[in-house]
Amino acid sequence: MSTDRVVLVTGGNRGIGRAIAERFVALGYRVAVTARSGEGPEGTLTVRADVTDAAAVDTAFSQVEAELGPVGIVVANAGITKDTLLLRMSEEDFDSVIATNLGGAFRVVKRASKGMLKARWGRVILISSVVGLYGSAGQINYAASKSGLVGFARSLTRELGARGITANVVAPGFIETDMTSDLPADLQADYKRNIPAGRFATTDEVAGVVAWMASDDAAYISGAVIPVDGGLGMGH
Ligand code: NDP
Repeated sequence: MSTDRVVLVTGGNRGIGRAIAERFVALGYRVAVTARSGEGPEGTLTVRADVTDAAAVDTAFSQVEAELGPVGIVVANAGITKDTLLLRMSEEDFDSVIATNLGGAFRVVKRASKGMLKARWGRVILISSVVGLYGSAGQINYAASKSGLVGFARSLTRELGARGITANVVAPGFIETDMTSDLPADLQADYKRNIPAGRFATTDEVAGVVAWMASDDAAYISGAVIPVDGGLGMGH
């Protein structure tokens, strides 16, 4: 497996993004992470960027290119939730989630595509969620942003598929991170009852799939949605 590539993971200071960055480091890739706060794991280059800010994303990429080389693998992972029912959801609740989860992927992938086109090689991996296709009461903004990533990856596949670039979506179910530890215990137990695997996943279980999607073995997979959800969203 060729690991002579530069990887950039957004939101690599904690949670799933951090585990993905750790996995790529362990496999021998050159790895950069964007973080608004904190640092990426050992062995990574941390650059500051808020993914809602195109200029900050551009600066971060320039820094990574100068220090590690052109980015061949981009993992758009940074994401937020602002959950509430539709009638209570403010414009700001909706817009900020779309701007971060969907707009952030747009800014990061657009910037990454320049180098990928030049190299005629690239891997775009978008971290979506089971709820993007399954739906979730109280998460209209989040689910819309996450299903938007599917249309994004499929359109990108049609635009750039002939240039050695693949674009795929990884759709985690419930993963043990800050995002899920905020859920009330009774809700967590309720979710677990509906997951065929009967448990939440570890961040490492997502990281392994992302690393495989970036590998040479996945060269002929593009526009796919790969669930990592213990069977929760079967059929999507
Ligand atoms: P966390 O809340 O643990 O971490 C979110 C990460 O995104 C942090 O690094 C955070 O940075 C970063 N981030 C948020 N907003 C921005 C922004 N505007 N600019 C740059 N970075 C930003 O989340 P998870 O690790 O749980 O989730 C990671 C991804 O996986 C998300 O896209 C999420 O939607 C998705 N996911 C998570 C699931 C889960 O069960 N946990 C299930 C399905 C999908 P900072 O620390 O600076 O805030």
